[in-house]
Amino acid sequence: MAIVRLSELIGQPTASAFLRGVVQSKRYANAYLFHGPSGVGMGTAALSFARALLCERASGARDTGPGLFGGSAPAAPAATLDDACGECSGCLKSVQLQHPDLKFLFPVSGEERELDDTIQETLTPLREDPWFVFAYEKAASIRLSLTRELLRELAFQPFEAARRVVVVRDADRMREDQYSALLKSIEEPGTTVWILTTGRPSRLPATIRSRCQSVRFAPIAESTLMEFLEQRVGLDTKNARLLAALSSGSLGRALALRDSEPLRMRDEALALLEPALRGDPAGLWKASQAFMKYGRTGRETLRRMVEFHQLWLRDLLRAQAGAERSALTNRDREAEIRRQAERVTPAEIRRRLMVLEEALSSIEGNVTADLTVFSTMARVAGSRVGEGEWPAHPTARWDY
Ligand SMILES: [Zn+2]
Repeated sequence: MAIVRLSELIGQPTASAFLRGVVQSKRYANAYLFHGPSGVGMGTAALSFARALLCERASGARDTGPGLFGGSAPAAPAATLDDACGECSGCLKSVQLQHPDLKFLFPVSGEERELDDTIQETLTPLREDPWFVFAYEKAASIRLSLTRELLRELAFQPFEAARRVVVVRDADRMREDQYSALLKSIEEPGTTVWILTTGRPSRLPATIRSRCQSVRFAPIAESTLMEFLEQRVGLDTKNARLLAALSSGSLGRALALRDSEPLRMRDEALALLEPALRGDPAGLWKASQAFMKYGRTGRETLRRMVEFHQLWLRDLLRAQAGAERSALTNRDREAEIRRQAERVTPAEIRRRLMVLEEALSSIEGNVTADLTVFSTMARVAGSRVGEGEWPAHPTARWDY
């Protein structure tokens, strides 16, 4: 199940300590805003925190004191609990996301009449897969019908627990009028605790942000990600290291790519440069199209291709700065890195990085993926042999 203990949040010592402190103090704000880069575990933390707030023992709501256990001392007195106990009836229900006082909203897309099915399609794997990763379409949103229903329900007392907990994942995906309705509820002192998460806090109205207790989440350290991928997901060291570097601190991203054979993908991405350096447009075009077999969307594939090249260039710069083997991401190809680092100037590496950076920003626009792979590689190869023979391309620029 995707709910983990607050003490088990991966790579978030500060947020974890803060939330456990809140649970232990038993003083809760009306609303919390978990913000940070996406994929660092804010959604998981929100459910863990919600679970602690609904736990009959940790929340202090039904602390019936000694005597409950027939005279023998309880394993952990409620007063010192800083997390869900995992054993009470509240915990057993919340772990299955079936606690009547736990409301969980997240963005969905698709037809309104299929909403129940769409939600179940997410909740079922979430209950079963401890490393479930949420993936949305670009247009997915927190549905108006669901927030309306929720706000109606909040007018009544909680069913079982002392309070109701509402978790809104990716709360930046709402409409203006939803925020105003939500704001009213957040401001009213009552029995509801709101936990909002967002990777894009600037998209939330300032009025909402200012009324939430802010909890910051940080990118996860590469070494922590690597350890996780090796020990918990079971990747071999080489793949784990590469994937950890590729994930830029996002566990969600690492997990989404866990079955993607990163080493092989990297080798094919790097090999794209060979026909470009040879000045072989036909060969490069064929290779660019073949590379599109990776990933669900061209955009995703394109991004990954660019990132593998960035990691490689980062290694070249490190090698030029005298870095040891252990500091190289692509250390399985160390000899090659050392060789190239001697031949390519730092200025040339910066030029290539700029080309790649530009490709990354064009990904946000309306680009044709294989064509962009082609032109990016051609431009990275830059002033090499065969430059004059390249087919003219409207977006091609050679003047770096
Ligand atoms: Zn409990």
